[in-house]
Amino acid sequence: MKANATASVVIPVFNEQENLLELLERSLKACRSLGVVFEIILVDDGSRDRSPDMLREAADQNPGEIIAVLLNRNYGQHSAVMAGFAHAKGDVIISLDADLQNPPEEIPNLYRKLVGDDLDVVAGVRVPREDSFLRKVPSWIVNRVTQKATGVKMVDYGCMLRAYSARVVHAMLRCTEHSTFIPVLANSFAKRTAEVEVRHAQRSRGDSKYNFFKLINLQFDLLTSMTTFPLRLLSYIGGLIAIFGVALGIFILIERLIQGEQWAAQGVFTLFAILFIFIGAQFVGMGLMGEYIGRIYRDVRGRPRYLVHEVKGVSRLAAP
Ligand code: UDP
Ligand code: MG
Repeated sequence: MKANATASVVIPVFNEQENLLELLERSLKACRSLGVVFEIILVDDGSRDRSPDMLREAADQNPGEIIAVLLNRNYGQHSAVMAGFAHAKGDVIISLDADLQNPPEEIPNLYRKLVGDDLDVVAGVRVPREDSFLRKVPSWIVNRVTQKATGVKMVDYGCMLRAYSARVVHAMLRCTEHSTFIPVLANSFAKRTAEVEVRHAQRSRGDSKYNFFKLINLQFDLLTSMTTFPLRLLSYIGGLIAIFGVALGIFILIERLIQGEQWAAQGVFTLFAILFIFIGAQFVGMGLMGEYIGRIYRDVRGRPRYLVHEVKGVSRLAAP
C-alpha cells in the first residue's frame, strides 16, 4: 500500500453528547498527526439527545475533515458502522467507539501497522480491559464461541478499534444481510490480518448502550450470519441420540433373550422413552432451523439495512 494512503475514520454515535466534544478534539488531533488526507465520518444512530446537532455543527466548523451522517432512527452499532463505511472514501478505514473507551490516539498506530505491513485488517486488543465484570463475562463467552465456530483465532472480537483496507470494506458493503458482526465479516474477506495491543479506558460519561438482551441478540447474529456450526451441532446431537437408541435396542433384545418374554412386555415403556427422545431431538432441530429460516426470510425481502436521513460536510477525498 502506498505510504501516503488516505484515511477514513468511522465512528458510530448513539446518545453520546457528553463525549462528543472531547472525542472530536482528540480524533482531529490524532488524524492531523498522520500527515495524510483524512476524513472523520460520524454516524449518528438515531440519538435522542443533542448528538445530531453537535455533529452538524462540527461538520460545519471543520469542512473537509468531519462528515456527519445522520440515520433516521436507531439501527444498532454495526449497521451504523456499515453506513459510515458506505460513505468512506479513504484507502484505509478505521473504526472506533464514540465513548472514548478506545483512545483516538491509537489511530496512527493502527494506520501505520496496516499501511506499513500491507495488511487487510488490523484489530485492536484491549489491554487492560476496563469494563465491569458483568460486561466482560458475555464478551468472554462471545470470544470463545466465535473462535471455535469460525476457526479464526483472534483474541478480542469485541474491540471495534480496528483498521481495514478499502478492499475489505468494499467486500463487506456488498453483503446485504441484515445481521452482521463486522469483525467476523471482515475476517472472512481478509487475506492478511494482525492484532495490536491498544489501551482501553473506562467509560467516563454515559452508560453502555448494550444490555444483556442486546448482547444475546448480537451473539445470535454472529453465529447464524457467519457459520452453520449450530446446524452441524444439531446433527452431532442427533447422531449421538441415534447411537444411544440403537444401543438401547440391542440391550433390550439381549435382555429379552436372556430373561424371556415376561421381561420384554415391561420393556414396552423403554421403547416409549426412546420415542420421546427422538421427538425431543426433532423439536430442537426445528427450533434451530426456524432461526435460520427467519433470517433467510428477512434477507430475501431485501430491505435496505438503513436509510440515511442527511449527509453534512463535503469530502476532500476523490472517490476510490
Ligand atoms: N452505538 C450505536 N448504536 C447502538 C448502540 C451503540 O451506534 O444502538 C455506539 C455507541 O455510541 C458507541 C459504540 O456504539 O460509540 C459502542 O457502544 P457502547 O460503548 O455502549 O458499548 P460497549 O462499550 O458496552 O461495548
Ligand atoms: Mg463502550
